Amino acid sequence: MGIDNSQSRERAEEPKIYLVGGAVRDRLLGLPVVDRDWVVVGATPAELLKRGFRQLPGDFPVFAHPHTGEEYALARRERKTGSGYHGFSVETGPDVTLEEDLARRDLTINAMAEDDQGRIIDPFNGQEDLDQGLLRHVTPAWVEDPVRMLRIARFAARFDPWGFRVAHGTHGLMKKMVASGELAHLQGQRVRQEMEKALMTDRPWRFFQVLHACGGLKQLLPALAAQLPEGGHGQDAEARPWQLLRRAVAADAPLRLRLAGLLQFAVDEEHDAGKLVEWLGLDRGTAALLREWLRLRAMLETFVPADPDIWLNILNGFTHRREELEQLFSLSMPETAAELLPRMAQIREVVEQIRGDELRCQGWEGRSLGDELRRRRKEAITAVLEDAS
Ligand code: ATP
Ligand code: MG
Repeated sequence: MGIDNSQSRERAEEPKIYLVGGAVRDRLLGLPVVDRDWVVVGATPAELLKRGFRQLPGDFPVFAHPHTGEEYALARRERKTGSGYHGFSVETGPDVTLEEDLARRDLTINAMAEDDQGRIIDPFNGQEDLDQGLLRHVTPAWVEDPVRMLRIARFAARFDPWGFRVAHGTHGLMKKMVASGELAHLQGQRVRQEMEKALMTDRPWRFFQVLHACGGLKQLLPALAAQLPEGGHGQDAEARPWQLLRRAVAADAPLRLRLAGLLQFAVDEEHDAGKLVEWLGLDRGTAALLREWLRLRAMLETFVPADPDIWLNILNGFTHRREELEQLFSLSMPETAAELLPRMAQIREVVEQIRGDELRCQGWEGRSLGDELRRRRKEAITAVLEDAS
């Protein structure tokens, strides 16, 4: 009211600090708050450094608190600089307001702040969306960053027990983002990170369903999308990948099993495991588990229970990472696993009693030792199988 901006700024107010993002959201939902993010309004990097904050590496001015180590970001705004995608730049400065900073955030439920009196600042009605269980974009600039696609899918999985769903208009923006080809800019590493977080929730299939419903899954994991009914929702409850994930959740399976279990459906003749592993930047253990399981699965799918040769190959396949492979077998093919695993244990025991060093004592060596070992083991397997039938 008549006071111009430059004057009011000259009053050199103390910087204001607000709790923002996930911490505010999770507290309002009654969830334990693990990590807290803060935003600082009305300060410069120099002021924060003077107060003992340490600047963190990255594209934006973010600082670590001298005692708690928690992250304090200087308020920043996104500004439209042109038309179409990527026509935005980011600015920081002591004049950037809290509202401007909240406006650049992804979802309304993530765009609330709390001041040092415990008051909620909520310019985009995040609380209402929290109450109604809606995942809604803050502004149309949402389409600028494809990571938001992964985040919304992850929140859909995490908050599914509260009945959260994607708001209608936001679904429209998701389709727009897919059509624009923006998802091609996503790094596999980032896809894996968000996917891993989603996989550890109790409703991991929601992550993939939400991506499928807007056409995004087809671009990210085409072989997986090909196994699902078009459009995603409703008819896909019995899809094999979701059945696996339900079993994994029920068994409280660790991440590696969930990841390898799911990714077996993201591989087919056209999309091979090697490329997927590389793109996602999978760790060696998970990559090896996935590869070994795919090989075993192919054998198990054409399994002839009376053939001792195949039994030997299968025993061999289960040699490394036996425990994980057996769990993956149970998660993927529960009926077959329930039938075969006890039999396999029995056969392994017999086979292990026939040992190479004993044959060597009896004078066998080289190639013929290997052949004799295999012959005797097959004989033993046949005996077990005949006993059982
Ligand atoms: P989590 O509980 O997984 O930590 P979070 O919402 O706190 O969820 P963070 O990655 O910690 O997620 O990000 C903190 C806040 O930063 C978010 O709540 C959101 O306001 C904002 N944010 C993070 N990533 C983006 C993004 N890609 N686009 C817009 N805003 C984002
Ligand atoms: Mg957070």
